[in-house]
Amino acid sequence: MYNTINPHYSVHDIYTTKIGENEFDRVSWTRLRINGHSLAVEEGRWNRRGRGRLPMEERGCSCGQVQTQRHVTEHCPRTTAL
Ligand SMILES: [Zn+2]
Repeated sequence: MYNTINPHYSVHDIYTTKIGENEFDRVSWTRLRINGHSLAVEEGRWNRRGRGRLPMEERGCSCGQVQTQRHVTEHCPRTTAL
């Protein structure tokens, strides 16, 4: 996902501003970049009590779509207000 939103791997301004000014945003974007979040797309990768990984189509959002980073940040009707 990160390759599609930043194909040239440029450094975003959020990482060059003074620490403390946008700390919450910086931490949130970093978690999204390194898959350090609890979205269904990531949670479904891990072994679920011996049942293995979930197929991608079963990693659903409460709106009915597959819950990927792109879905949540750009398309989900439940997070558009954020
Ligand atoms: Zn959704």
